[in-house]
Amino acid sequence: MPSVSPPPWPATARYGLEPAPGGLGLVQDLLNTLPAGAPRQPDLLDDLDSATQWAHDVAARWSTATGRPAPDVTLDPAGLRALRTFRDELRYGIDARLHATPEAGPPEPAPAPRTTGATLRLDGNGSVHLDPAGTGAELLVSLVLAELFAAHLTDVGRRVKTCRNPRCQVAFYDRSRNNSGVWHSVRVCGLPANLRAHRARQRQAD
Ligand SMILES: [Zn+2]
Repeated sequence: MPSVSPPPWPATARYGLEPAPGGLGLVQDLLNTLPAGAPRQPDLLDDLDSATQWAHDVAARWSTATGRPAPDVTLDPAGLRALRTFRDELRYGIDARLHATPEAGPPEPAPAPRTTGATLRLDGNGSVHLDPAGTGAELLVSLVLAELFAAHLTDVGRRVKTCRNPRCQVAFYDRSRNNSGVWHSVRVCGLPANLRAHRARQRQAD
């Protein structure tokens, strides 16, 4: 019997990337709503129509990945603004962890800590779950943070990365054994960058 593959994560699929496993794909997909790649893809959170479509699609995709009911994440204009701000905060933290170098100069001021609701639930088997809470954009933020929290507990959260190429910036899941990947694709972003660095060193030597 042919296996049925799940539908793609809508934003990550634009960049032809392997999604992060399970519900963690939601974190990667939010990051990949950004305009990135070459040629540049549009920002899926640019207007309410495309953001609403994206939120609907990821809620369904998250449900497929986790086997839980699809959350109602209907966005309104204020919710969309909040979601864009949250995406910037998420991105800031990952970039600061991965790409901060002394040459890059002082980093932009860090955003204020983000807090959101979630519920700890004890089930009949003695297991504890972190259930997202809220409605609309607030619920989406809670979902993303709950997934990231669960990923950090098993030490895979730091495998969600943004490409080191500043002109690319897509979010990928690093499946390398020692979590050493820095490019979303070595062929597309790594080799050209290494070649540029090599030529620069040659020019200096000449
Ligand atoms: Zn890249």
